[in-house]
This record gives sequence, C-alpha cells and structure tokens, in this order.
Amino acid sequence: MRKLNFNAGPATLPESVLQEAARAVLEYKDTGISILELSHRSKEFADIVAESKLLVKELCGLDDSYEVVWMHGGGRMQFAMIPMNFASEHNAAGYIDSGHWSEEALEYAAFYGDVQILATSKDDNYSRLPHWPSSVPDRLAYLHFTTNNTICGTQWHHIPATNVPLIADMSSDIFSMRHNYTNYSLFYAAAQKNVGAAGVALVVIRKDMLKRIVRPLPPMLNYKQQAHENSILNTANVSGVYTSLLMLRWIKEKGIDAIEKENKEKAALLYDALDNSKTFTPTVTERSHRSLMNVCFTADTPEHEKEFLALCAQNNITGIKGHRSVGGFRASLYNAIPLAAVEKLVQLIKTNP
Ligand code: PMP
Repeated sequence: MRKLNFNAGPATLPESVLQEAARAVLEYKDTGISILELSHRSKEFADIVAESKLLVKELCGLDDSYEVVWMHGGGRMQFAMIPMNFASEHNAAGYIDSGHWSEEALEYAAFYGDVQILATSKDDNYSRLPHWPSSVPDRLAYLHFTTNNTICGTQWHHIPATNVPLIADMSSDIFSMRHNYTNYSLFYAAAQKNVGAAGVALVVIRKDMLKRIVRPLPPMLNYKQQAHENSILNTANVSGVYTSLLMLRWIKEKGIDAIEKENKEKAALLYDALDNSKTFTPTVTERSHRSLMNVCFTADTPEHEKEFLALCAQNNITGIKGHRSVGGFRASLYNAIPLAAVEKLVQLIKTNP
C-alpha cells in the first residue's frame, strides 16, 4: 500500500509519473530497450532534453537569453560551482544566510573568494527570515540566497530586485507558485523535491553570466562548457532527466496557478490546525515568513512527540520527522502531496488537541 509520504526529499511523486517511469524502465517507447539502458547520445535522449528545456522555459516565463542545463551533483555541487565560476579574491560574493542550506552554500564559497554575509538570522536559529539587505555593494560578483529554507520552514514571499546578479537556490520551492524567474541571473534546484528523482540538478543560467567566469576550470565544473554541451558533457543521468520531464509535463498539465492555489490551501489547513493546537506549535511564528512547502512544528513533551510519530505510522503516514539537526516534525507539502494527505495529517493533529 502506498504511504502518505511527507518526506523533504527524495519526496513523493505523482502516481501517474511513477507509472510512466515504471513503463519506461521496462521499455522506453518502442525502442526495445529500457530507459536505464538508453544512450545519453541517442536521438531519443536528445528529444527528452529538448522538450524538458522548452518546458522549463515555458513554466518559468523565460526567453532564449537563458540556458537550461541538467547536471549531476545535486544542490551542493551548485554551492561549489557558483563561486568557482564567479567569485575570486577580487570578486567578492554576497550571501543571505537564512538557514542551514544557505550557510552551507556560503561555506563552500569561502574556498574561492571573499564572502560577505549581507543578512543572517542565525542568532534566532533561523526561525525567521533575516531582513533583506537595504543596500548591496555594486562590486559584488553576485548575491546568493535560498528561496525556501527546507529545514527551518521559512520562505521568501517577496524578492526585491537587486543591483548585482541574483542567484537563487530554489531546490525546495521551484514550480510551486507564480514567480518572477527573470529576477535571476542563475537559479537551480536539486531535483528530488518538486522536479523529480534524486541524482540530477536543474540549472538555469542567463547567457550573459557565461561571459563572467573568473578562472579556468575543468569542463565538468564550467557553466559555459556545460551549457555548450547541452546536458551531455558526460554520461547524463538519463532516467533522472526523463523522470524530471515527466514531472514537468505533469506540472504543465496541472498549471502553476492551480498548483499555487492548492499549495496555499494545504499549508493554510496545516498551519491553522497547529496554531489552534494545545499540543503542537509551529516553529515559525511570523506568519509572513512561513513556508508553504515545509511546515515545521514541535510537540509540547517528548512523550507526545513519540506518541504522534506512532500515530502517524499507524495511519500510513511517513517522512514526518524533522531534520536530524533540529528535531520535532516537518511536513513537506510539495506539489505532488495531495490535499487529502494533508487533511489526514490535520485530522491526526486534531485528535491530540
Ligand atoms: N538546497 C536546499 C534548499 C535543500 O533543501 C537541499 C537538500 N535538501 C540542498 C540544497 C542540498 O541538496 P543535495 O542534497 O542534492 O546536495
């Protein structure tokens, strides 16, 4: 029996996507071979990449001034590649530190250049967003931030324009709402939340950034060469990119507006139950900072925490434990989590008033 999987990533995928992926594992189209056996240099894979690139641009409202690339290495490889390509001792990089992942990103950047932290909420344990910097030095190579903080459950709902190239880690909220993607010079997402299965990262980069690469780099780590080679610089994760294509088709069919509406409905239902509970407390109290994607909460006693975990397990719910670094609970409400799953979780929360 399929579980209601609230895991933060790898996360639940729509059943229709799983079925189509499963069919492709047995035989991709009528090729006589599995998607797991398909050459990354085949015409079939070139078609998969071409369609996926078109869909990403369409869903994000981007024109041909952007390149779409599928890469290996998940989110963290981007933490490294961004400063490797754009930061140096002469090109300081700016970071907004709003959670575990932005902190890790800036730690990676320190290997390659001077890092300036322009805002942080570390002193508050990242339970709120920091204030967006009122001014950003013009000479920065870029400003990096995390649109949704997967571990602490905060999300930027308003993103001001900046005077330097803006780079966004959108790993946990890409395609979850209407969004002005043209704000960004580069944005990326590890696929295992809203874009597909683990093992690929989606990187979208404005072409003018490819002229700003500050040092010679091996091809795999160089955005220009990655973009030039059309996602097949080396052996691509063929089945991973295909699963992402299935997700992109699913997102398009559903429509971003409908997805956003449903995501808001799911999050409101859950936060409302938590705000009115005597046992559970949402960890983010500032409502305008709350994430629609990752709802974090605690129980009043360790006993209640244990009891609730057991209750969830009895009711076919999995993936509800908070990140190992913070504890408590976290319900990830990505696009593929149906409203009915959230209703079930809320029902259990209400049985522990
Ligand atoms: N950024 C964010 C916002 C994340 O949530 C995660 C992982 N969950 C990462 C980066 C790191 O991704 P990966 O494990 O693919 O390196």
